[in-house]
Amino acid sequence: MNILVLISVVPNTTSKISFKDNDTLFDSEGINYIINPYEEFGLSWAVKYKEKNPETTITVITVGEVFTENVLRKCLAIGADKAVRINVQAKDGFSVANEIAAYDGINTYDIIIGGRESIDYNGGMVTGILAASLSYNYINPCTSLEINEKRAIATRDTDYHKESIECELPLVIATQKGIVEESELIIPNMRAIMGSKQKPLEVVESKFDKANVTIEKYEKPSLNTQTKFIDADNIDELVEALHKKEKLI
Ligand SMILES: Cc1cc2nc3c(=O)[nH]c(=O)nc-3n(C[C@H](O)[C@H](O)[C@H](O)COP(=O)(O)OP(=O)(O)OC[C@H]3O[C@@H](n4cnc5c(N)ncnc54)[C@H](O)[C@@H]3O)c2cc1C
Repeated sequence: MNILVLISVVPNTTSKISFKDNDTLFDSEGINYIINPYEEFGLSWAVKYKEKNPETTITVITVGEVFTENVLRKCLAIGADKAVRINVQAKDGFSVANEIAAYDGINTYDIIIGGRESIDYNGGMVTGILAASLSYNYINPCTSLEINEKRAIATRDTDYHKESIECELPLVIATQKGIVEESELIIPNMRAIMGSKQKPLEVVESKFDKANVTIEKYEKPSLNTQTKFIDADNIDELVEALHKKEKLI
């Protein structure tokens, strides 16, 4: 089985977000980047699948500049065999999907796993556009996946129920928690981190380097002035506010 995992490299969720150049550019100064959490579940699923099916190869791919390589190395430490970086700034979901669709050998993968959405720009479009470009089956959001020969049996959660879907490979899925649980996420040990340095990280040049979307201005949501922050240690003030002011308890 040949598995490709799409990695979006995103700011750590605790990062302080700010903009520069008249609010037209994201300010990456001091930002610590991580694997987008949704595909971390997908990558852990792939590594667990490989443990049971050792002939499997797992490749991770990102569209991004050189700073994304630390995160790709972490993916290799988690258990991917090879990493690919398409050397261009990720500009928008459409161009990212186009770059991946044009990667040489993209049609050699049986399963392409992405996240439900990238937590930076939350477009939720890359996996769908990629599946459409390749004319592959597509399941989103996929919360369980079993492979039986060349067939996939997957579950997707809808608002009120679960759907069970069976289809043929090749397949693109967009994952989230459920495909593995949080407790099953793979945390690489020191040996795996050292070993990841010996694994291949291929850099390929962009075929397009073209944005489909132009950002005119970023704006932070205005602060809700009704919200009153109470220090976590100040239980008396919290009880007073809930009991006397809000009359909730
Ligand atoms: C310095 C910097 C500047 C950026 N500027 C912009 C900008 O101006 N406008 C903008 O829209 N975005 C920008 N991005 C974000 C980046 O372009 C996003 O990765 C891309 O736009 C996809 O966003 P999305 O929300 O549509 O992805 P989604 O469709 O929500 O992502 C779904 C899944 O697709 C896969 N995926 C997403 N992005 C990538 C990727 N880059 N490589 C491989 N797989 C991926 C992941 O599996 C992800 O879970 C910037 C990122 C950086 C680091």
